[in-house]
Amino acid sequence: MADLFDRYHQTRSALLNAAREFGRHPESITLLAVSKTRPAEDISNLYRIGQRDFGENYLQDALAKQRRLAHLDLRWHFIGPVQSNKTRQIAARFHWVHTLDRTKIAQRLNQQRPDHLPPLNVCLQINIDDETSKSGVTLMELPQLVESVLELNRLKLRGLMVIPRPKDDFEQQRQTFSAVKATLDEFNQRYKLAMDTLSMGMSADLRAAIAAGSTMVRIGTAIFGPRNH
Ligand SMILES: *Cc1c(COP(=O)(O)O)cnc(C)c1O
Repeated sequence: MADLFDRYHQTRSALLNAAREFGRHPESITLLAVSKTRPAEDISNLYRIGQRDFGENYLQDALAKQRRLAHLDLRWHFIGPVQSNKTRQIAARFHWVHTLDRTKIAQRLNQQRPDHLPPLNVCLQINIDDETSKSGVTLMELPQLVESVLELNRLKLRGLMVIPRPKDDFEQQRQTFSAVKATLDEFNQRYKLAMDTLSMGMSADLRAAIAAGSTMVRIGTAIFGPRNH
């Protein structure tokens, strides 16, 4: 647990330092702790020191943790691929979905979002530099998806998400993230929207993501240590 707290505080410092370095307000950047494959205890320990936003990729694993932690006011973010047969539970159990990349899935989430909950926050995952990835919409397909999502009143379009191809070089990382930021700005203007979220940056490229304007960094390994499978 001491290790977990150390790594958590180091990650917070890295976020603060990057914000300072690039002239960003630290409050404008949410730290999303990616707790996939980690036990519920890690989540409740981080909750005790103030962490509220948690990201999960595997639905069954996430639901089990949510049941155990139902007494805590956590914000749950779904960040894994969304399959059609999972949309009902995702729509009912999560506050955010970061990985929306198909109209059909958007329509299902919209239909299945329970009436007593506010609209589901969504980010559209874009595929900006990795032609081999099956996930994410291309920039060509993006207008169509944006237009579809805007018609769905149980979804709240918050912004864009990206998982770039891994690169070691800071400037290359930053270039990709800046292209996503430019896309967000362009779409806000073109469609008169107020999308406010750029979900980008993981353990290996947090600093470049913050340099480019990220508002939500998704950090797993740096907080929880290496995953053992
Ligand atoms: C696992 C995962 C992360 C966290 O990655 P780390 O490199 O462990 O920080 C972030 N985003 C998504 C979509 C993930 O699947």
